[in-house]
Amino acid sequence: MSIQHEIPSYLTQHEIGPWGVYLEQIDRVTPYLGSLARWVETLKRPKRILIVDVPIERDDGTIAHFEGYRVQHNTSRGPGKGGVRFHQDVTLSEVMALSAWMTVKNAAVNVPYGGAKGGIRVDPRTLSPGELQRMTRRYTSEINIIIGPNKDIPAPDVNTNEQIMAWMMDTYSMNQGSTSSGVVTGKPISLGGSLGRREATGRGVFVVGCEAAAKQGLDIKGARVAIQGFGNVGGIAARLFSEAGAKVIAVQDHITTVVSEAGIDVPALQAHVNATGSVAGFTGVETLNDRARFWELDCDILVPAALEQQITESNANNIRAKIILEGANGPTMPAADDILREKGVLVVPDVIANAGGVTVSYFEWVQDFSSFFWTEDEINLRLTRIMREAFAAVWQLAEEKNVSLRTAAFIVACTRVLQAREMRGLYP
Ligand code: NAD
Repeated sequence: MSIQHEIPSYLTQHEIGPWGVYLEQIDRVTPYLGSLARWVETLKRPKRILIVDVPIERDDGTIAHFEGYRVQHNTSRGPGKGGVRFHQDVTLSEVMALSAWMTVKNAAVNVPYGGAKGGIRVDPRTLSPGELQRMTRRYTSEINIIIGPNKDIPAPDVNTNEQIMAWMMDTYSMNQGSTSSGVVTGKPISLGGSLGRREATGRGVFVVGCEAAAKQGLDIKGARVAIQGFGNVGGIAARLFSEAGAKVIAVQDHITTVVSEAGIDVPALQAHVNATGSVAGFTGVETLNDRARFWELDCDILVPAALEQQITESNANNIRAKIILEGANGPTMPAADDILREKGVLVVPDVIANAGGVTVSYFEWVQDFSSFFWTEDEINLRLTRIMREAFAAVWQLAEEKNVSLRTAAFIVACTRVLQAREMRGLYP
């Protein structure tokens, strides 16, 4: 009798997945890199990949094993930096792509980091609080050998939050024998977290959204906004848009889609999600039976703020928005990018639109090193300035070269990374 073994996912991944999307984006930018193009292969392979087994004892006494990853895509400009995702669909390809997009993002907004990302393939909703803590701590211990305040600094991503960062910081500190607050960002304020960090990604999405709207002659007051994802990024962006007078006409989460022509009461929806974990069951709105119709809604600004590969060849043609603001990482497929450009839809790419989070993570790291903490106003002012400047630089280059904002952002970023690579030279 033959025994059925579970085969590790990295042996079964026949599809190139999100990493393939990233490679296609690099191919598109290569003709604009001039003599630096000779280094481009550097961007097409992660510097370091760590795959770890994460075993935990479950509350019922059984042992469960999860597959975890930490990928350092590039460290030419500084330590690795990027979030940790807990999700049942995490794959090596996804973590590789997310780590590479961090390299590009950090260079696009000019914070002194390389790019990294981590994840565990797990649905954290199936774990008790104790199991979640044990899994987080074991994962941190397993990747301990490659992270550190000067090596690689994790942060929150999908399904990870301040509490997870606190456990990661504590585990790393215990292993080191001294408290190390700079090893992760997105920590609670009481552990050296930064004011404004929790809101930073959503705020950045909102800030560049206003810049993009101004370029398109669209008034934010009264603008119709549809948002996929109502977590850290989507929830905050929804709040800021509605506070600025925009109408949030639709929100989709992992369970359902809620729609209101009159505009959704965002604080009430947030309270409902805090209490129940989903937008499902929120009253005073309609629900869409067919999830796919979300993309066809009549709106001015569409904010994908959930997962990657959402806007594809099959739904891009039906999109009616004037502006797509990529709160999520990698939500638009390259073929969809082409369709949207042809249709005149302005796509503000993830590497600019959602860079607010890593920008304030950078502020947090600087504050931890100096043990001197800034006011929230100072943080928001600096964040807004960096986001506006990055958007303006990318906009100008896109006009000069007659390319999309994504290609322009990649030109700016890849040039910075490869210049650093060239100046450092190859070791040995
Ligand atoms: P989160 O866990 O706080 O929220 C995720 C949201 O997406 C939830 O509302 C969830 O219901 C929804 N969702 C999950 N699967 C879905 C599906 N199949 N369809 C529709 N909705 C779905 O995560 P987050 O931190 O807000 O991250 C969202 C996106 O933003 C991710 O792509 C992440 O990489 C990116 N991002 C996050 C940060 C950050 O600072 N948190 C920074 C930059 C980019």
